[in-house]
Amino acid sequence: MEAPEFKDFAKSMVDYIANYLENIRDRPVLPSVQPGYLEKLIPSEAPSKPESWTDVMADIERVIMPGVTHWHSPRFHAYFPTANSYPAIVADMLSGAIACIGFTWIASPACTELEVVMMDWLGKMIGLPAEFLACSGGKGGGVIQGTASEATLVGLLGAKAKMMQRMKAEHPDWDDNTIVSKLVAYCSNQAHSSVERAGLLGGVQMRSLKADDNLQLRGETLEEAIKKDLADGLIPFYVVATLGTTNSCAFDRLDEIGPVGNKYNIWVHVDAAYAGSAFICPEYRHLMAGVETADSFNFNPHKWMLVNFDCSAMWLKDPNWVVNAFNVDPLYLKHDQQGSAPDYRHWQIPLGRRFRSLKLWFVLRLYGIENLQAHIRRHIGFAQQFETSCRSDERFEIVTKVQMGLVCFRLKGSNELNETLLKRINGRGKIHLVPSKINDTYFLRMAVCSRFTQPEDMDFSWNEVSEAATEVLKEQQK
Ligand code: PLP
Repeated sequence: MEAPEFKDFAKSMVDYIANYLENIRDRPVLPSVQPGYLEKLIPSEAPSKPESWTDVMADIERVIMPGVTHWHSPRFHAYFPTANSYPAIVADMLSGAIACIGFTWIASPACTELEVVMMDWLGKMIGLPAEFLACSGGKGGGVIQGTASEATLVGLLGAKAKMMQRMKAEHPDWDDNTIVSKLVAYCSNQAHSSVERAGLLGGVQMRSLKADDNLQLRGETLEEAIKKDLADGLIPFYVVATLGTTNSCAFDRLDEIGPVGNKYNIWVHVDAAYAGSAFICPEYRHLMAGVETADSFNFNPHKWMLVNFDCSAMWLKDPNWVVNAFNVDPLYLKHDQQGSAPDYRHWQIPLGRRFRSLKLWFVLRLYGIENLQAHIRRHIGFAQQFETSCRSDERFEIVTKVQMGLVCFRLKGSNELNETLLKRINGRGKIHLVPSKINDTYFLRMAVCSRFTQPEDMDFSWNEVSEAATEVLKEQQK
C-alpha cells in the first residue's frame, strides 16, 4: 500500500470509528455468536494476492462486529471501565507510524523523555509525594507498564532483590534457595487475582490476610501476620495495599499498612488500578492517605482516565532495586549516554516497549485536568444515581458503600435468586453486568464504564434491572 491509498483507507477508518462510537448505544452490548463463529466467515488460508482495502472495510461489519462485546456502550456495566478517547486513538496512530522500540534512551530519546515528563505530570496531578517524581532530582521516577499485573510483579521482584541483598549481608552462609524459601509477601483477601499470581510468578509465598468488616486490610492484621511469620523464621518482604478493590471498590487502610511495612522494612506497593484515576480530584485523595510510606504506586489511566489500553502508570521511590534486579547488559544494548536518562528496559519485564506516553500527552493536553476531573465526577454521580434508584426499591439492598463508579447490589434473598436475576438481566441482552461474591454473599456489580453515558442511560439500566427482578420474583411465586 502506498501513501495515497493509505490516506483514503485511514480517512475511511476514521469515519467508521467516529460512527461506531457515536452510535454504539444502538448495538446489542453482548454478541450472540457461538464459539467458532468466525472461522466460518473467512477463508482458511491467507490470500496469495492482495485484496482491496474496501473489501477489508466491508468485512468489519460482516466478520468482526457480530462478535464484539461493546465495552464503550453505556449499556456495558461489567468488570471495571477500560478507557477510550479520540485523542488517545490518534496518538496510537502516531505511535504506530513512528513504531520505535524504546528500550533504551538512544533507541528513541523522545520515547523515553516524554515518558519521564508525562509520569511527572501525572504524578503531580494525583498529588504523589515528590520522592516519586523524576523532577524532584532524587532517585524516584515513573514508568508506563502494560498492566497493573505487571506493576505488582515488578514491585515484588524489586522487593525480593532488596531483601535478598539484605539477608545475604546478614547471613553470609545462607544460599539463594534458603532465603527464597523463607520469603513471604502479603495482601488482602480482597486483592485482585493478579496479586496472588505475582507471588506464583515470583516464586514466593503470598499470604492472603482477612479484610475487616468494611473490606479493608488493617495495619493490625498485617502486623500480627508479620510477627507470627518472623517467629516462625520466615522473612516478610512485600505487602500490596489495594486502593479500590475489584470486588467492591473498598480501600485498604494504607495509612496503617504503610507505617507497619516501614517499621518491618517491608516494601509497600499500592495497587490503585481502577480508583487511582479519581485521585486527580482532590476530594478523593483522603483515600490515599499514607501514600508517603509506599515504595511503589500504580494505577491504570487505561481504566478510568480516557487513555486507551495499555497505559499502567507505576512510580518507584528507588527504581534501582528493580533496575538492578533485571540488569543484563549485552553489548548491542549499551550506549554512550547510559546513566544520564532512564533505560526503561531495566524497569519492566519485556525488552520491547511502545511509544505509550504519546497517548498520555495527547489526552492530558486535549482534555486538560479540569475535563478529566469532570469525567471522574460524572461517573461517580451516575453510580450515585443508580444507588438512589436501588435504595428507593425495597426489593433491593446495597451491599457495600458506594465510593466510586461502582454499585454492589442484590435482591434481598438468596444467592440463587440473585444468580437467576443476573442470568435474566444478561439474557435480556440490553445491558451487561458481572457478579461477585464476598463472604459467601453473591451480588451484582453495576460499573459505570462508558464516557458516552448520560443520566437517561443510567435510568435505562435501572429499568432493565428492575424489570428483570419483577420477572424473576413473579416466577418464584408460581
Ligand atoms: N488490580 C485491581 C484492583 C484491578 O481491579 C485490576 C483489574 O480490574 C487489576 C489489578 C488488573 O489490572 P490489569 O489488567 O491492568 O493487570
